[in-house]
Order: sequence, then structure tokens, then C-alpha cells
Amino acid sequence: MRNPKIGVVSLGCPKNTTDTEVMLGLLNQSGFQVTFDNDEADICLVNTCSFIADARQESVKTLVELASEGKEIIIAGCLAQHFKAELLEELPEARAVVGTGDIHKIVEVVKAISEDSSLRVVEVSDVPNDHQEDALPRMQTGFGASAYLKIAEGCDHRCTFCIIPMLRGDFRSRTIESLVKEAKILVASGVREIILISQDSTYYGLDLYGKMSLAELLEALHEIEDLEWIRIMYFYPGEATDRLLETIARLPKVVKYVDIPLQHSHPEILKAMARPALPARVVTRIRELVPNVAIRSTFIVGFPGETEEHFEHLVNFIEEQRFDRLGVFTYSLQTEVPSGQMAGQLPEKVKKQRRKRIMELQHQISSQRNQNLIGTELDVLVEGFDESKKLYFGRSQWDAPQIDNQVYVKPDERYSIVIGDLLNVRVFDAKPYDLIAEVVLTATEQPAIVASCAVS
Ligand code: SF4
Repeated sequence: MRNPKIGVVSLGCPKNTTDTEVMLGLLNQSGFQVTFDNDEADICLVNTCSFIADARQESVKTLVELASEGKEIIIAGCLAQHFKAELLEELPEARAVVGTGDIHKIVEVVKAISEDSSLRVVEVSDVPNDHQEDALPRMQTGFGASAYLKIAEGCDHRCTFCIIPMLRGDFRSRTIESLVKEAKILVASGVREIILISQDSTYYGLDLYGKMSLAELLEALHEIEDLEWIRIMYFYPGEATDRLLETIARLPKVVKYVDIPLQHSHPEILKAMARPALPARVVTRIRELVPNVAIRSTFIVGFPGETEEHFEHLVNFIEEQRFDRLGVFTYSLQTEVPSGQMAGQLPEKVKKQRRKRIMELQHQISSQRNQNLIGTELDVLVEGFDESKKLYFGRSQWDAPQIDNQVYVKPDERYSIVIGDLLNVRVFDAKPYDLIAEVVLTATEQPAIVASCAVS
């Protein structure tokens, strides 16, 4: 097959998205044609997720659908790392598997299989501990005004429910220089918000510089002209140091948004999860040191051995803390990790009931919070126009893309709103998870605008 067209499906988390964009960037740089219409693709690159059973099923379903359409497939990402050559045996249409530590080999893989139609390739390192030294080319696949910047790969923690260290290896940071270089390229292409991602961004730099260095990275990125917002995902509870929190509070471009998965509140469950204790103390410290902060957290219900008492402890904790944003997941059984072998596995029905109860609680909290925002002003990064609603949509600094609230903005005849604008708007209506607002002034017309809305 000469010069095949490469299609793409990217599943899973934002870390996977950046891996996909790097693979497409490398292919594009080497002269391969990339298409976002899989109907016209000769080979489909599927970057898979294998974090929990549901994600694995979605990956398999995608592969089977593409195979039934007669597509040749390259399987990359976590499923490839997890099941390796087994996937080639299961799926005759699969031409190659590429592990999480081998994405930089994608050009060699595509060249090899397009030159020899009978060849099937396995590029999966046993331990995915590669190290990305420099800024690699990227082809953006998502929302133009924002871009993810993967600052590290892997994880050094060993939470008992998590398969990530097995699939992604130990924690490896990229250098500050390489990250600033990549961020500058993104900003030059029109990106206004950089979202730092890794499994544990607060751990950044310990492997490279001998100390956690996220504060230094923030200082360096803050110098980039035309960059408006820097967002951090995710904090690990034991690593939200005062120095880091003070840096976030001090630097205007760093959004006052802390995404800190706490997973549970009860000390016995946290101990069984091998997670840090005393989550309330961390939340209090964040609120003390970062004024006007929005805190997002995620929790797991139905962990093995979670009693009614443990669960009520969690419900009370969420009621007391009133998180600005919250996600709740049912525990997903995985036999490869320690929690999969623990006694006290709970029925799915119980897990789902517990999740529902917390979702209902958060629905009330979020509704009240959003109602309190009516009449306030805030800055919104405009991301698109919703044809059905006839409204622009975007996010405030207190909302991450795809998971948090959206702010809808009425078109305004005084201003021609452009995607990527940072607009000052006034909220006039609120839904449980969305706000509706009207333009006050554009940031370009009054650049000194400072968002004045209190989130708490
Ligand atoms: S810190 Fe996160 S990625 Fe690391 S082991 Fe725990 S849950 Fe998994």
C-alpha cells in the first residue's frame, strides 16, 4: 500500500489525547496523509484506554466496529500495553500494536506495514519507561483555544485500585525547557489556555530535579506572552504544598482551579486504597491559600469493604465541603490490582445506589452555587457557537473543558464575538451545571478587566 491515508480514533483521557496528537504530528511530519474521516482512511490508528472495565469495553467495541467495516487497524495505547500480541491473535484486521512507551515509533510501524502487506508488528516495551526528551510535533485534534501539555508520564504511587503504573510505568517528568518550547509553539498557533496534565502533576520534577518543581514550571510558563490561562490537572492530596498553593495564588495567569481527586473520606477506606489520610485538612489549606478558588474532586464508591458507615462518612464529608465540582465513580473490579483480591467486594446494585445518592446531593449543591452567581461578572473563554441554542459557549477559569460547567453567551450586536475571545460577561440565568450570560465588554477593549465573581 503506497502512502496510505491514516484515520484516527482517540479514546480515554486527555493524556491519551496528547499521545494521539504526537503520533499524528510525527506521521504528518514524515509525509503521511492524516484524515479525520475514517471512511476515507486506509489504516485506522486507534489509541485505546484500558483504565477500567467500561473503558476496555469501549475500546474493544471501537476496534470490532472498524474491523467489520474492513479497516486495517493499528492499536495503540493502554489496551495495547495491557494485552500486547494477544490483540493480534484476537483481531485479524489488526496490523500492529504499539505500547504506551513506544508511540514515538509510529512512523517506523506505519512504514513497515504499508511496505509489506503480510507483516504484523508488535512494538510494546515490557516496562513502558521511555522518556520524552524534547517537544515532539503535534497535530491538534480538539478545541482550538485550549491545548493539553503532558508534563510527565507514569506514576510512582501505588493506589490499590489503579492499573496505571502497570500500563504507563514509573513517573518521568519532561524538562522545563522542553515544556516551555512546546507551550510557545501551541500559543503561536492560537492557543490561549494551556492545561498541564499528568497522572500526578504536583509530583512534577522530583525525578529530574530532586524536588517537586511544579511551582518553577508555572513561573516559566507564566512568562509566555499571549498565553492567558494555565490550568493544572491533577493534584495529589499529600503534595499540595504551601509553596505551590502560594504560587498559584500569586500568578495571575494560573487559574484558581484545583482538581484534586480525593477518592474517599473515611480513614479506613483511604488506608485500604493506599491513599493519603485527612482530606479535609488539604481542602481547608487550599481554600486558605488560594482566594476565590474552585475545587474539583472525584470519589469512588463501593470500594471493597465499604460499609454503610464508611459511605455515610463520605456523604457527610461532601455535604460539609460543598465542592464546586465533583465526579463520582463506582468501584470497578480489576483482578490485576491489589483491590481486586480484597474481601468484601460489593454488588453492582449497591455501588450504583451509592453513586446516585452522591450525584443527587451534588446536583443540589451545584444548583445553589450557580444560582448565587446570577448578577455576577466573569471572564469566559469562547469555544464555539451552539446552533440549536443560538448561543456562544465557553468556560470560566473555574471550569475545565469537557467535564465542568459551560457558560452560554448571548450574541451581542455591539460586538462580533470570535472563537478564542476572552469575554467579560454578566450571568443572568443559571442551570444546575450551566450558566447563561450576556457580554459586558470584550477583554481586548478593556484589557485590565479582572474577573470579580466569587465562586464559593
Ligand atoms: S496516584 Fe492516580 S495514577 Fe497514580 S496509582 Fe494512584 S490513582 Fe493511579
